[in-house]
Amino acid sequence: MSFNMSITTNLKHILNTIPDHVTLVAVSKTKPIEDLLEAYNAGQRHFGENKIQEMTSKAEQLPKDIKWHMIGHVQTNKVKYMAPFVSLVHGVDSYKLLKEINKQAKKHQRVIDCLIQIKIAKEDSKFGMSFEDTKTLVKSDKFSELKHIKIKGLMGMATFTDDSDVLNTEFSYLQNCFNDLKEELADLDTLSMGMSGDYEIAINHGSNMIRVGSNIFGARQYN
Ligand SMILES: *Cc1c(COP(=O)(O)O)cnc(C)c1O
Repeated sequence: MSFNMSITTNLKHILNTIPDHVTLVAVSKTKPIEDLLEAYNAGQRHFGENKIQEMTSKAEQLPKDIKWHMIGHVQTNKVKYMAPFVSLVHGVDSYKLLKEINKQAKKHQRVIDCLIQIKIAKEDSKFGMSFEDTKTLVKSDKFSELKHIKIKGLMGMATFTDDSDVLNTEFSYLQNCFNDLKEELADLDTLSMGMSGDYEIAINHGSNMIRVGSNIFGARQYN
């Protein structure tokens, strides 16, 4: 795929090649407002950011019917900034964080949807909880007291590799975790896995939410 094409063309291409039940989250981190607006005008409504301040500033400048996904590692002291408007928090990786999201959601009289991030890659740089700890958490009394958060599913980031054996193993592990956790939490419905390089494989393993950045907006530049 060539990234010189327009954002609109890239979006249409991806939407034409994924099943209807898969939600495409356009990962717009580091990209300027104009790029997000182009995607919005092409019909895109789900956007993903990995920094709370950047997401908040973009949300202020863009149409209010956008669904904002926080896909990055969340610092507890910044939860308050996104609590009024965030649509789904993908990177929940501790009870402490969940408790803070619950507290801030309560202040805004809302329930915030969350995904628990499971560490599926071997790389140390990837965040996430173990599945064992996740199960213990959702069965605990302290968890059942959190009325302003709702666990909708799981999120995972595979190893950054072209090796399809590794990707198949990691995504299939997360799919099994998801099916297993459904026995505890009956209304789980979201399995967020797959990025630009691996979303086709993720969908083969039951992903119904993919987070795609560079295949839509082109490569990111970090300064
Ligand atoms: C940046 C990012 C993505 C998108 O990555 P691309 O390879 O550009 O599609 C997806 N998920 C998370 C958690 C990210 O941080």
